[in-house]
Amino acid sequence: MNLPIRVRLAVWFVTLLALTVAALGAFLVIQLRADLLGAIDEEVRFGSQELSESIIEDPSQNGEVHEGPGDQMRDFKDDAEAILSPSGSVAQLLDSSGRPLVAYGAAVGARPMVSDRVRAAALTGPAQTLTLSFGDQDRYRARVSLLRIKGEERVLVVAESLRPVDNAVRRVVALLLVAGPSAFVVTGLAAYWLAYRALRPVEQITTDAQEIGIDRLDDRLAVPRPNDETRRLAITLNAMLARIEQGVLEKRRLLADASHELRTPLAIMRNEIDVALLVDEMSPAAREVLRSSREEVDRMTRTIDNLITSAQVDEGRLELLTTPVDMRQLLDDAVRALRPLADAKNVRLVVHGDRWEVQVDPPRLQLVLTNLIDNAVKYSPHGTTVRIETWSNDEEICVSVTDEGPGIFAADAQHLFDRFYRAGSLTADPGGSGLGLAICREVVVAHGGRIWVDSTPGQGSTFSLALPSWRSLQPQAPAAPADIDGVRPSGDG
Ligand code: ADP
Repeated sequence: MNLPIRVRLAVWFVTLLALTVAALGAFLVIQLRADLLGAIDEEVRFGSQELSESIIEDPSQNGEVHEGPGDQMRDFKDDAEAILSPSGSVAQLLDSSGRPLVAYGAAVGARPMVSDRVRAAALTGPAQTLTLSFGDQDRYRARVSLLRIKGEERVLVVAESLRPVDNAVRRVVALLLVAGPSAFVVTGLAAYWLAYRALRPVEQITTDAQEIGIDRLDDRLAVPRPNDETRRLAITLNAMLARIEQGVLEKRRLLADASHELRTPLAIMRNEIDVALLVDEMSPAAREVLRSSREEVDRMTRTIDNLITSAQVDEGRLELLTTPVDMRQLLDDAVRALRPLADAKNVRLVVHGDRWEVQVDPPRLQLVLTNLIDNAVKYSPHGTTVRIETWSNDEEICVSVTDEGPGIFAADAQHLFDRFYRAGSLTADPGGSGLGLAICREVVVAHGGRIWVDSTPGQGSTFSLALPSWRSLQPQAPAAPADIDGVRPSGDG
């Protein structure tokens, strides 16, 4: 079941209450009925006995004094009226063949109140109490007993209506049917509210925990004051957060240390390869191997630089040593470094745009531009062009890097600048760490700028960054032609 706990608790409470009320109600009704029947049985037994005695003692009815049938009837009625309860009581005296002799009560007609079988049983056996239905279709509790008057056998039936019992039971059932559902509704609402209150601290812990991201690992959950399960939960989660934080810090330290260790040997290798490439007498194959090794060393150096920058951001010590530089110059340097990579894929790198002076930390911004252009080359199909452009709106100096690659889905675009995010592939995955764009954003934001991507899946992407305006070096200069200053179509040699 996917229902929230508070709804489930409310449903359980109501179900339990319904079962309890049903069981209790059934017991109550059965017991009430039995008690009322017992009382009525006692009444008819008593009435029957009293009436028998008065009939036997009454000379007119027992045949000692002969009167007309009308007088007999009157005497019987008088006795019954005196003995039996005034409402709902009836009585009848039958001879042994079942013929009614006298009767009392409006409901009793001319027909015998009991069947032949019951009368026969009364004639041969002890008095019996049973439930009857006759005349007005009401149910009666009846006492059927044998009277011997001067050797004559008579059957006396004394009965009392069960209508009061049925009414009382019906009233109780109706009350239960009305009160039960109301109680269910009230209990359900109360259970829901109680569960909601009880779970509120858990809800709060969940909300707080959701807000603690990898970048806020020193945050802790508020610990509820009452010493109950929620307090223990919060304490346990906080202890877990502390362990995670410790682990992450250790991992970051290890990464930072390892990156620093790797940087120096890589720089030495790069220099040695450069020196080796200066040697004239070298076979083209050997030269190609060296060039390829140098590209790999460059790429590793960039990854190491990203890791070091990310460690500095984590430790809150990304300090910028800013100086005014020509953005275009930074771009050209980045393009120059990546040209061998682009050439190897037959990708054209084209730089457009004016020279704008920006106030930046040059190596850091260099890393950003290199990451963006490296990505563009990496995701570009063979033989396509990557356009890099400097431009400005009035407040910002901007750079855009546009490729003709696979593009990016809108759903991925909003996460691309998160650390270690790697988009679901629109093309074969060229491999990577998912760190480059995150570093770009951190460095650009540290410079007070912004970075974003525009993309149409299948048609390419444009990654842009904007830095607060410093001043243009040549504000009036017309836009530079496409392939300027060291920028040439790849494959030219
Ligand atoms: P990676 O080392 O994986 O390239 P990045 O942070 O540089 O890490 O990039 C994150 C993800 O962004 C990449 O995995 C890729 O899916 C997507 N991406 C980056 N640049 C481009 C681009 N120019 N074209 C298409 N997808 C790109």
